[in-house]
Amino acid sequence: MQVVTTRAELRAALASVPRPLGFIPTMGWLHDGHVSLVARARAECATVVVSNFVNPKQFGETADFERYPRNVARDNAICEAAGADIVFAPTVDEVYPPGFDTRVAMGAVALPLEGAARPGHFDGVATVVALLFNLVGAERAYFGSKDYQQVAVIRRMALDLAIPTDVVPCSTVREADGLAMSSRNVRLTPAGRAAAPVVHRALAAGVAAIDAGERSADAVRAAMSRVLAAEPAADPDYVSVAHPDTLAELAVIDGEALLSMAVRIDGVRLIDNELAG
Ligand code: AMP
Repeated sequence: MQVVTTRAELRAALASVPRPLGFIPTMGWLHDGHVSLVARARAECATVVVSNFVNPKQFGETADFERYPRNVARDNAICEAAGADIVFAPTVDEVYPPGFDTRVAMGAVALPLEGAARPGHFDGVATVVALLFNLVGAERAYFGSKDYQQVAVIRRMALDLAIPTDVVPCSTVREADGLAMSSRNVRLTPAGRAAAPVVHRALAAGVAAIDAGERSADAVRAAMSRVLAAEPAADPDYVSVAHPDTLAELAVIDGEALLSMAVRIDGVRLIDNELAG
């Protein structure tokens, strides 16, 4: 496995590699969720490239960017064991050289849910992913459905900007107690970690309500909120029942519904979702 840190080294490493090329953009502090994306790419592509870059443009608060866990040496070992061929781990200046002055501005798909809670977040994501897609030139890029809206944003961006990389959504990998794996989980205290499975329990309650015939989206939101309210450590940011394509909030559930939420525990913002119906 080759580790490269500059655009020039990346270009050299990619010259004449076997195709198709599979790409997994990450912000590092890798866990089994990331490993599942690398494994999927490994199974489907001749060459696998992972990027490891904590993108300052997608963080609202500088403190959150600075607190984000980092350990590139550990990440490289995980990538190698998972079968990656090339890791691109650039500095901020390498990605955004002096004078960088462009931002990809997303439309309606980036407005609700995470976009409403984190203004500018998806423009930062779309900007770095468009740039990385252009640098890597992969046939396919693999993304986790834990970040459901992110997949929708990147699909839209690649289609609109005519970037010929297929966006492949992959299942969410969870801990045994249901907590979606996330680099942020490491910042939970032991008590917070013990409380955190409430997020997936709340989603499961929503799915169960729909499976039992509930068609009122408000009733499903209430069922999820009740589960969260029983856990004093959980501070909900939003609880949503939305259309899986438009991401608009539903009143009546008459097809598939995207149940999603953001919940703060110990000040750590956890997101998760399930499709139901
Ligand atoms: P991140 O490093 O958090 O930016 O995530 C990089 C990629 O890994 C994104 O496509 C995420 O959606 C994906 N990912 C993060 N957590 C998980 C998980 N628990 N299961 C599957 N994919 C994940």
